[in-house]
Amino acid sequence: MGRHKKRFGQHFLHDEFVLQQITSAINPQANDTIIEIGPGAGALTKHLLPELKQLTVIELDRDLIPALKKLGESFNCELAIINQDVLEVDFTQLASDINTSLRIIGNLPYNISTPVIFKCLESTDAIHEMIFLLQKEVVERLTASPGSKSYGRLSVMAQYHCHTEYLLDVGPEAFTPPPRVDSALVKLKPHDKPLKLLEHKTLQTVVRNAFSQRRKTITNSLKTLISVSEIEALKINPKLRPEQLSVEQFVDLSNHVSTTKIGD
Ligand code: SAM
Repeated sequence: MGRHKKRFGQHFLHDEFVLQQITSAINPQANDTIIEIGPGAGALTKHLLPELKQLTVIELDRDLIPALKKLGESFNCELAIINQDVLEVDFTQLASDINTSLRIIGNLPYNISTPVIFKCLESTDAIHEMIFLLQKEVVERLTASPGSKSYGRLSVMAQYHCHTEYLLDVGPEAFTPPPRVDSALVKLKPHDKPLKLLEHKTLQTVVRNAFSQRRKTITNSLKTLISVSEIEALKINPKLRPEQLSVEQFVDLSNHVSTTKIGD
């Protein structure tokens, strides 16, 4: 195996026990349409290929492509390799090309994990499940409940779209080279029936404004968007701080802001 490239966030899994645990969490089924982001040298890919009829991997580092091709040839599975930046891949297009919704998995490069998650959240019409190995702190934020320290913008946006589940912890020693942070595996499953939201952009604005001043009450941080009496009319205490609001309450605030904007 060649040198690991820091700029690509390359930390390759070598711990077979951890790889088994991740594989059983993914629980690949022969007819699944799995997309693996960042297969690297194929540590996880190797565990998926024997179980599947087809697998698509997205890897940016072209130096890794020949070895991945070779790996594909040794299994009875059709391996499609996309040598591209995952942030430029259109998941909706990919799903419609394959004609089915996707399961997206991967030990993500931590430097781009949040943009990758936001990108996936924007494509939940094309995705039915995501399982990612991430920085533990990010997994804590994705799965945090209202009132906890980790609950913030990422929690609300992820949980608006998905049911999120903390699966397991993975220590730095499972990787070569070991990252400086702890890692964890998370499952995100898009809701069958998401809450009724009038405008996605407005929810983003409300949530961003609310958490930009975490210690302030929502009266303060949202004052350019909504008044105290309007917040009260939604049966929300205007003295609450953003981390005390549920996802439903953020959606209610957002829908109200959307309606009052109409006709402006
Ligand atoms: N799955 C492998 C494993 O567990 O051993 C490698 C995981 S490593 C943390 C992340 C992988 O993502 C690397 O192979 C890296 O080259 C690739 N990568 C980094 N940035 C990427 C991007 N923007 N698009 C696609 N792949 C990327």
